[in-house]
Amino acid sequence: MKRVTRRSFLKAASFGSAGVAFGAAAPTRAAAGARAGVDARSGAAEPSGAGPVRDVVVLGAGMSGLAAARDLARAGLDVVLLEARDRVGGRIHTLHEQAPHGLEIGAQMIHGSRAYTWALVKEFGVETRPLPEWERWRFSPAAGFWKPDGARERALAARLDQAYHAYRGDDISYQKFLDTLKLGEREIDSVTENALSWSAEPDEVSLRAAIEDSAAWDTYIDQNFQVVGGYDQIPRKMAETLGDRVRLSTVVRAVEWGRGEVAVTCEREGATDTVRARRAVVTLPIGILQTGKPAFSPDLPGWKRRAIDSLHMGRVVVVHMLFDDWFWRDPKTGRKGWRAHEGRVSFWDPHPLGHGMPALQGWITGRAAQELSDLGEKAGIARTLDWVEEALPKAGARKRLQWSYLRDWVRDPYALGCYSYTRPGGWPQRAVLATPVQNTLYFAGEATEPPPHYQTPPAARAPSRSRPPAPDASGRRPPPDPASGPRFFLPGGLPDLN
Ligand SMILES: Cc1cc2nc3c(=O)[nH]c(=O)nc-3n(C[C@H](O)[C@H](O)[C@H](O)COP(=O)(O)OP(=O)(O)OC[C@H]3O[C@@H](n4cnc5c(N)ncnc54)[C@H](O)[C@@H]3O)c2cc1C
Repeated sequence: MKRVTRRSFLKAASFGSAGVAFGAAAPTRAAAGARAGVDARSGAAEPSGAGPVRDVVVLGAGMSGLAAARDLARAGLDVVLLEARDRVGGRIHTLHEQAPHGLEIGAQMIHGSRAYTWALVKEFGVETRPLPEWERWRFSPAAGFWKPDGARERALAARLDQAYHAYRGDDISYQKFLDTLKLGEREIDSVTENALSWSAEPDEVSLRAAIEDSAAWDTYIDQNFQVVGGYDQIPRKMAETLGDRVRLSTVVRAVEWGRGEVAVTCEREGATDTVRARRAVVTLPIGILQTGKPAFSPDLPGWKRRAIDSLHMGRVVVVHMLFDDWFWRDPKTGRKGWRAHEGRVSFWDPHPLGHGMPALQGWITGRAAQELSDLGEKAGIARTLDWVEEALPKAGARKRLQWSYLRDWVRDPYALGCYSYTRPGGWPQRAVLATPVQNTLYFAGEATEPPPHYQTPPAARAPSRSRPPAPDASGRRPPPDPASGPRFFLPGGLPDLN
């Protein structure tokens, strides 16, 4: 493994100094620090008093940032990870206070026995359990409960596949494509689900991305699994291995960069700090990057901005309700799970195997999630209870409610949505998003992942997609060591520090 020697560092630094001329004081100091040959490994401050120049600064401590930082640290690099929240895990978040088995308010489950997450499950000895196939009940006030007919569903899926196969046109919206199929009411209900799996509406989603995703899921998913005791165990254990490289409650405000140098301005408990490094790995959700905050200076190149704008964040609101009894499990009147409003409103039992507490989870997506988000927490919970009572009017849900919690991902300040989807015309910009800028700004995270989408990176990563190991002293890359545990694939490859 190639260590970052003082010599190689100086080489990179002199290369960096030929890059962008900074106007602001902080990066000028970073550049000066680099030129003065600060030893990143020793962490020694440069003569002017500025902080050490790290090898890599990672923005965001969700699964992607943690995985990137772990991999880079393992490769012997000096890494620091900046996270705005007071916890790691980002969009993985488990509530433990009310239910000892844990209530997931972010990522719910491991999708499939081939998910990359299994390597982490094994490494940390985390317990999992398979989830039974969902009972696919539908509900509408007019028709009551019904179960989709399996044979008709399969026939519809085959028809859809054929139409995908035949499609040669532009990247239009999924809705425009559906319009050409002349579907019946219940068929529309079924296919709307495809768009809603991104938690977006059919007219918001790219057809080509939908086709690509459908093909990927076909080969990928078999069964879903829950992490017993909470999904958040995994990011927390990952963070433990990183020790004080992780800085929580640290909000990144600005990123000034030139080739081979980065100065990240961040705020922690009211105090401003600048972290300098030779490379940055940006794992911030696409919703955050679209706000222009943190500001990049100079701005990101047009091709990168275009890629960022070609995606959008889906909308999900999660509502957890604890009742005095499992009234929805009543075999005569109840349903263990059901979907209503064309799949925009779903309820399921998060402890379906009889474990845990009488908890019912509401999963509200697309425009229904926007509606709930606009209502706010109190009225949103009331509306969710209306939907439960609409389906089970005699159960007395309101009177039985012991506790409730609404998690609005649409307005979450550090995500601004649940996961990304591609806008019509935006395919295939994810790969562009994953491309590094001037071997200095690296982009990773959920939005940069190849299909299948809407899941936890690097959960989607088979070990064979691992990034290559660091070059050895002679510059050769040794073959990947399959026994070396989970590795993070940094789109665009390992930052080249030579
Ligand atoms: C409701 C919901 C359900 C889901 N269900 C599943 C599921 O069942 N299975 C599955 O595999 N996946 C699921 N996902 C998707 C999965 O959670 C995400 O894809 C994954 O967690 C994203 O990881 P990430 O590291 O790319 O991004 P994030 O987890 O979002 O990490 C980015 C980090 O950047 C931080 N950040 C943002 N702005 C700043 C700033 N200015 N300064 C510093 N830090 C900042 C954030 O706080 C965050 O910690 C779900 C997601 C949601 C929201």
